[in-house]
Amino acid sequence: LIRMSGVNKHFGDLHVLRDVDLSVARGEVVVVIGPSGSGKSTLCRAINRLEPIDSGEIVFDGVPLPAEGRALARLRSEVGMVFQSFNLFPHRTVLDNVTMGPIRVRKEKPAVARERALALLERVGIANQATKLPGALSGGQQQRAAIARALAMRPKAMLFDEPTSALDPEMVGEVLAVMTDLAAEGMTMVVVTHEMGFARHAANRVIFMADGQLLEDAPPAEFFANPRTERARDFLSKIL
Ligand code: ATP
Ligand code: MG
Repeated sequence: LIRMSGVNKHFGDLHVLRDVDLSVARGEVVVVIGPSGSGKSTLCRAINRLEPIDSGEIVFDGVPLPAEGRALARLRSEVGMVFQSFNLFPHRTVLDNVTMGPIRVRKEKPAVARERALALLERVGIANQATKLPGALSGGQQQRAAIARALAMRPKAMLFDEPTSALDPEMVGEVLAVMTDLAAEGMTMVVVTHEMGFARHAANRVIFMADGQLLEDAPPAEFFANPRTERARDFLSKIL
């Protein structure tokens, strides 16, 4: 579904993505880990072209990433993104946050969008928060609302960039549970996270990134039992 080949990206003198080759099949769950500044967020952002690349190619669902216009808007709607900071519209209710995209971009009828939004909020366990403003929700509830909002666009893939890093510890589990369900249902996911439990149990592959390079790419059992590079061993010794 996602194929990156020979992707390079610089920020000035900084080479943040170095010849990145990455393929993610439909239904696959790929967890990306690595030290701060290694390029994990940039990798995610490149996939829905929030970050343009300098060279190489990224193909999504058989089509090279469009640079602009309607095709780009369409791509963005097909690749859901969930960030560390929930990025909900603060002055709109949770329900409005979820219906907005489908109504404006997908031209769904408001009544239909509303029904689907309520079903999605139910699915992430916050249907009873629908009429509140995001600020009235806990961090974990806001993040689940952000996931529901992304799902409302019927994405073909979901990107998560440290979705639980800003949460109080007691709320991490409820967000991971929603993500684990999504993975089990066959959603294609790229997840940047420090939650190694999620990586072990929900991922098909773990990718270890350092200095803009993908140093390892292996099933979780293999990666955690036997990291091949010194960098990965060093990283794991610090976080486990
Ligand atoms: P973290 O774990 O801290 O989130 P990361 O692996 O997600 O790190 P990136 O955010 O992708 O890393 O950043 C990779 C490098 O690129 C870092 O050195 C960062 O400072 C730099 N960088 C990221 N975005 C920009 C930008 N817009 N302009 C300049 N430099 C940037
Ligand atoms: Mg990051």
